[in-house]
Amino acid sequence: MNYHSKSADQLRATQDELRKLYEQLQAAGLELDLTRGKPAPEQLDLSNELLALPGDADFRAADGTDTRNYGGVKGLLELREIFGELLAVDPADLIAFGNSSLELMHHLTTFAIIKGTADSTQPWGAGPVKFLCPAPGYDRHFAITEHYGIEMIPVPMNPDGPDVAACAALTAADPSIKGMWAVPTYSNPTGVTFSEEVTRGLLSMPAADDFRIYWDNAYAVHTLVDAAPTPLPVLEMAAAAGNPNRVYVLGSTSKITFAGAGVAFLGSSKANMDWFCKNISFATIGPDKVNQLRHAKFFGSADGVREHMARHRAIIAPKFKLVLDILDKRLSESKVASWSEPEGGYFISLDVPDGAAKRTIALAKEAGIALTAAGSAFPYRNDPHDRNIRLAPTLPSTADLEVAMDGVATCVLLAATETLLAHHDS
Ligand code: PMP
Repeated sequence: MNYHSKSADQLRATQDELRKLYEQLQAAGLELDLTRGKPAPEQLDLSNELLALPGDADFRAADGTDTRNYGGVKGLLELREIFGELLAVDPADLIAFGNSSLELMHHLTTFAIIKGTADSTQPWGAGPVKFLCPAPGYDRHFAITEHYGIEMIPVPMNPDGPDVAACAALTAADPSIKGMWAVPTYSNPTGVTFSEEVTRGLLSMPAADDFRIYWDNAYAVHTLVDAAPTPLPVLEMAAAAGNPNRVYVLGSTSKITFAGAGVAFLGSSKANMDWFCKNISFATIGPDKVNQLRHAKFFGSADGVREHMARHRAIIAPKFKLVLDILDKRLSESKVASWSEPEGGYFISLDVPDGAAKRTIALAKEAGIALTAAGSAFPYRNDPHDRNIRLAPTLPSTADLEVAMDGVATCVLLAATETLLAHHDS
């Protein structure tokens, strides 16, 4: 029955039943973790061939480069060609770097703060710096901006991407807005993919010359359906909109091969890439080209990556389905929660009644189920409605996931009865 139609007495009776379920859950002594979007061991196993590549005498790139030696700051062309196709970036404008795209985003930010961007008249750090933060969003993006004292301005996420009108009103009025976080495909955590119209709006809206969109296409190929969306050629679109330097395209193989030993990519205009390569040349003589060579050999082509992602899908799609089935079975009737049904990416975003997310997460924790901390998907960890919970289904085994999600559902319902009864009482 819909909890909103229940009388206080009916709610109390429901709560008593849920308490019993919760006590059983606590007594089970669980130790389950749904906090982070990590690949499961079986997903990592899909790439074990990498451990033996490129082979003990195979160290030359296609152009003859000895990958064992220093140099080649842009990374191996054969790998940039594969990921250029997948990220819709001309390989000439794409670099292959170390293992982490987050590291690239960090460098892009600190270089701009200290030295200014390719378009800055002064370093970002010479004045106040603000970033637009579509929320809910990716906690580690927000961690970078918070760490460097950049003021974060939350902007709403719609089903087709960030609210462009809200973004444009802000950037047009305030030249200290220097950046924007964006996850255009299967966004973390909502699963939203930006539409072409929203994308055009973001690329053409009035903003400071040194305003940059961090187009973090971390989930470009991570589909749970037959085909991932065709990536938009955002660099070409930005140039056509008269803002050729506005976008940094980012991606990595972290959730394709080995999360800790993959390859990250950065694509942008020639001016931005020259700026980045100059700044990074003070930090490194070149990336790990042996790892890049082994990745190029492992994939062979962009289709090789797509086929590999189909094998990931076979492992994780049943886990997503399991979570959605449990949410549906346990929570639908009560009408106290809503959730995303993503077609890709790594997360399910669960909304519980306003004011009940922290309580749900605390109840789960006391029952041995670790969920991502309340508010994580918001700037400054401040979920203004205290209602969002990010679920990460990939890492646990199916058996653990089933137990954990059933427990989470009990916690959601119990917290919801508390919130609704508090309203009845007030
Ligand atoms: N961007 C997003 C949106 C992510 O969800 C993640 C991983 N959780 C990353 C970047 C991290 O990527 P990398 O491993 O390349 O640093």
